[in-house]
Amino acid sequence: MANDKLITGKTKLLGVIGHPVEHSLSPAMHNAALAQLVVDIANLGLDYVYLPFPIAPENLEVAIAGFAAIGVVGFNVTIPHKQAIMPLLSEITPLAQTIGAVNTVSRQNNQWVGTNTDIEGFIAPLQTTYKQDWSQKVAVILGNGGAARAVVVGCHQLGFAKIHVVGRNVQRLQEFRDSWSNSPIAENLQVHQWEELSKLIPQANLLVNTTPIGMYPKVDESPLSGEEIANLPTGAIAYDLIYIPKPTQFLEQAQKQGAIAIDGLEMLVQQGVAALKIWLQQENIPVEVMRQALQKHLGLS
Ligand code: NAP
Repeated sequence: MANDKLITGKTKLLGVIGHPVEHSLSPAMHNAALAQLVVDIANLGLDYVYLPFPIAPENLEVAIAGFAAIGVVGFNVTIPHKQAIMPLLSEITPLAQTIGAVNTVSRQNNQWVGTNTDIEGFIAPLQTTYKQDWSQKVAVILGNGGAARAVVVGCHQLGFAKIHVVGRNVQRLQEFRDSWSNSPIAENLQVHQWEELSKLIPQANLLVNTTPIGMYPKVDESPLSGEEIANLPTGAIAYDLIYIPKPTQFLEQAQKQGAIAIDGLEMLVQQGVAALKIWLQQENIPVEVMRQALQKHLGLS
């Protein structure tokens, strides 16, 4: 793996905007990939660097105009800009529109184009390692925030027969459902209050935690009680979007129950891979280098 990136007069700029942004794992992951690409295919002129840009909400518009002026090739978008960026873009892909949030922006024909690679990140392990026919399968999703929107669209893309979303706030749950009332997603989507979980868990082929419950430092917490998870069918897939700790309490409980566990690290890697493919117009992304860079950064290897 290449660790050093030589900045030259031709180096092009990528980055991530957020506020705050100093905890972002993306610079470590992307710069590892970019350095490796220089080694792999130096002659193709893949000379890029990826920087963190802390941008306060009131500076978003001027920052994006500045990015255009200095020739930024593309950037990731994190909290709190994922929705606020949308009116500042010339084009938004149908996927990002369906989710209602943009996490990746690229410069195409002198215009900003926004998309969302979280869906690709989420479905990647379900399309490769755990690939199967999902058309008779049931997904149960815990939480109805931003990440849950990408998970719902991802499950719809995979063709799940039923998608159940469980949340604790009735009004936000209804808004979540209503946001898709004109979309084919509504046909397979049902929302439920937390109290209905015990009847949903025995039906779940895929159980996804999109809440932050169990995330570091509250590592002893789980969105489900031992009693609830005991009803998860053997062989079901438990998927936690959280990547620290690895595994979470939720995944440990599920594995003891005979479930297959997927943690959030792969989603993080794969949404980054999808973004690099867009910016670099390059299919051969060094995925393993990105995975290892994240693991190292998180103290997991
Ligand atoms: P978000 O928009 O704030 O949504 C969080 C959801 O969890 C909301 O529906 C919230 O309910 C619910 N929730 C929070 N605490 C709860 C509790 N104690 N009991 C029941 N429900 C609770 O956050 P997000 O952006 O969707 O992110 C959620 C998680 O996914 C985070 O842990 C994040 O790190 C992870 N994530 C991982 C990746 C990845 O690449 N692996 C990508 C995106 C996100 P209310 O609406 O009622 O507050």
